[in-house]
Amino acid sequence: MQPIDQFFPLLKQPFKAVITCHQKPDGDAMGSTLALYHFLKQLGHDVKVISPTNWAQFLDWMPGTDHVIDFEQNRAESTQIVNDADYVFCLDFNILHRTKHLEPVIAASNAVKILIDHHQQPDTPSFGYGISDVKMSSTCEMIYDFIVQSGHSNLINLDIATCLYTGLMTDTGSFRFPSTTASVHKIVAHLKELGLQHSKIHEHIYDQGSEARLKFMGNAFLYRMQVFPEYNTALMAIPKADIYKFELKTGDTEGLVNYLLSIQGIKFAAIVIDREEERKWSFRSKGIFDVNIFARTHFEGGGHANAAGGRSSKSVEETANDFKNILTEYKSQLTQ
Ligand code: 5GP
Ligand code: MN
Repeated sequence: MQPIDQFFPLLKQPFKAVITCHQKPDGDAMGSTLALYHFLKQLGHDVKVISPTNWAQFLDWMPGTDHVIDFEQNRAESTQIVNDADYVFCLDFNILHRTKHLEPVIAASNAVKILIDHHQQPDTPSFGYGISDVKMSSTCEMIYDFIVQSGHSNLINLDIATCLYTGLMTDTGSFRFPSTTASVHKIVAHLKELGLQHSKIHEHIYDQGSEARLKFMGNAFLYRMQVFPEYNTALMAIPKADIYKFELKTGDTEGLVNYLLSIQGIKFAAIVIDREEERKWSFRSKGIFDVNIFARTHFEGGGHANAAGGRSSKSVEETANDFKNILTEYKSQLTQ
């Protein structure tokens, strides 16, 4: 993989590009993808955004979402677009299987793949150009740098600012995680100077939930949460019945795991949700306990040191029991 600045001269020649991100895009995946889309369009390139799957409704207000193609709903069209592309920009993931059923399509295409991502352990041989930096707060921060460092900061308009802020805000837990550096605040200051309306974005992201979602959360805290003070750990296991009962939609469980860390003394939070094809794990930690390693070692996953995900093909009860058994191995790390 060549460094990303080697790609900057290629921005001058017209090209066909696909921009994609990880399945079930979050605020950072969608924000970085759309910000890059608005940027490359201004340079006159032929750009298409393909999401591997659908996304949470609370992202639908973002400028440009109406142009995003859902691969699972438009397989033939998307495959054709990827096959015709010169470049595939891969944002907010670093290993192709994070694009689910889109993976074989990207892998088979002759397009040069470009990586811009901040997760650990990138699969660099899969990419022609790229940048991978775990110190970055968000992929949106990296897209901001990409635009500025390629000499185009004058092209950052309100749409780009809005998309970038969304990812900066969501991936830093509203500017509270340790990844929130001075650079992050400087970027936000610049975006504010461009007219960014930040409080509207917070409302769009955090104040669009349904009444049923809150009832689901109440039920989850009462009946689905287990706290293990001897391990400074909290676990939540959500059965499929809850998803149906409260008519949850994509994105309705996002952020739930973070609440477990609000319990005094809890350093490790885990939630497993019974999804259609698999049991999806989310892990969060405070301090030195590395959930990326935990997720990789035990649950076919990965992510960051303090936020990671994984999966299991077992039942929700079985995988939750596995988790409790595994926890005993980590007692000393979790009680330091
Ligand atoms: P979440 O729990 O919000 O789904 O994910 C937390 C973080 O871990 C995100 O940065 C996400 O991209 C990453 N992540 C989630 N699931 C997986 C996975 O299965 N594999 C890898 N490598 N990363 C994951
Ligand atoms: Mn991210």
